[in-house]
Amino acid sequence: MIAERMKPLMANNSAIRTMFEEGGRLKAKYGAENVFDFSLGNPNVPAPAEIKDAVLEIMEEMDPVELHGYMSNAGFEDVRETIAQSINRRFGTGFGSRNIVMTVGAASGLNIVLKTIINPDEEVVIFAPYFLEYNWYVKNYDGKVVQAPTDKETFYPDLDAFEGLITEKTRAVIINTPNNPTGVIYSEETIRKLGEILDRKQKELGTTIFLIADEPYRELAYDGVEVPYVTKYYNNTFVVYSYSKSLSLPGERIGYVVIPDEMEESELVFDTVAAANRINGSVNAPSLQQKIIAKCVDAQVNLEAYDKNRTALYEGLKDCGFDCVKPEGAFYMFIKSPVEDEKEFCAAAKKYNILIVPGSSFACPGYVRLAYCVSYETIVNSMPSFKKLAAEYGL
Ligand code: PLP
Repeated sequence: MIAERMKPLMANNSAIRTMFEEGGRLKAKYGAENVFDFSLGNPNVPAPAEIKDAVLEIMEEMDPVELHGYMSNAGFEDVRETIAQSINRRFGTGFGSRNIVMTVGAASGLNIVLKTIINPDEEVVIFAPYFLEYNWYVKNYDGKVVQAPTDKETFYPDLDAFEGLITEKTRAVIINTPNNPTGVIYSEETIRKLGEILDRKQKELGTTIFLIADEPYRELAYDGVEVPYVTKYYNNTFVVYSYSKSLSLPGERIGYVVIPDEMEESELVFDTVAAANRINGSVNAPSLQQKIIAKCVDAQVNLEAYDKNRTALYEGLKDCGFDCVKPEGAFYMFIKSPVEDEKEFCAAAKKYNILIVPGSSFACPGYVRLAYCVSYETIVNSMPSFKKLAAEYGL
C-alpha cells in the first residue's frame, strides 16, 4: 500500500499520463507530422558536437577506476574549479571549487538545498506562475509554499505584495529566470529590489531568508538580454544550475549548486548540501558527466533554432489574435486563454491536433503554455490549425 503523502502525487500523475497517452493516440491516428505537440519542455536541439568528442576522449584517456569510482559527495574538485572559473570569467564573481556542489540536475539541486535549510512548517515564497514540481520538492521537507503574485501584463514579480507575504516563518524564496512557463527574464532592477527587500526583512525579523535562483534556462536568452547573476545582489543566494537545457542533456542528469562565500555560515552550508546529496540517495553527480562538463564548460547549443521558433510562433499567434507577452528566454510562451476556463480552451485546441498545457499546471489558471522546443516545420504547419482555433473564439 502506498504512503498517504504519495497519493495526491499519483492522482496528479495520471492526469499528465492521460495527456501523454492522448498525444500518442492522436499521432497514431493522424500521423506525427499532423499533430502539433507543444506540451513538453524536452529540448529538440541536439547537444553540441563537443559533447560526443569529450565522451570519446575521456573514455580513451582516463583511468577507468578513477573515472567510474565514488568521489567526494560534492563532486570532482577539478570539475568544480573549472566551472567556478567559467562563472567568474562571465559574471565577474570570485568563486572556487569550495563554492560548487555538483548535482543530479536542477531537480536534485533544489531538493538538496531545501533539505539543507527547511524546518517543518517553514515557508517558501514562489512567484506564480511557476514550475509546479516545486510544490512537491518543498513538501519533501515538510515546508509550505506561499504563492506570490506577478503583474499579469509583464509576469514580473509584484514586489509590494511580495514584501507583505514575508513573515518570521519565511525561510526561502524561489525565483526562476528565464522563466518556465512565461519565458520572462527579470531585469537587474527587479533582482536588486528583491535583494533589498530580503535584506530589509532579514534585519527587521532577525531571521535568515535564502534566495534560491533556479537557473536551468540561464543560457537560453535572446536578443542579447542579460540575465543578472543573482549572488551579486543578495548574499544568502543559492544558484541552482543545470545542463539539461543549456547543453540539451536532460537525460544525463547533471548540474550544480553555487554556495557563495558571502552566505551566512557558508562552509557549514556547503558541507550540509554535500551531505544532503549523499543522504537523498544521489550520493554524487554522475562522474562521466562531470568530466564531460569540465571539457565542454563553454560549449553552447544552437540558440538560433529556438530563436527562429520563438519569432515564428509569436508572430503567428499574434496574427491569429492571441494575447501573449513576447518571451525573452527559455523555450516557452504563455498565452492568455480566450475563455476563463483554460482547460476548456486546451480541449478545444486538441480538436485541431494542438497539444498545449493549461496554466493551472503552473498555478496560473486563465493561461496556457506552449513549449516551442519543436521543429520549425511543426510551428509553420500548425498555423492554419491555430487560425481555426482562434476563429472558434471569434478572434
Ligand atoms: N526548474 C525548472 C524551472 C524546470 O523547468 C526544470 C525542468 O524542466 C527543472 C527545474 C528541472 O531540471 P533538471 O532536468 O535539471 O532536473
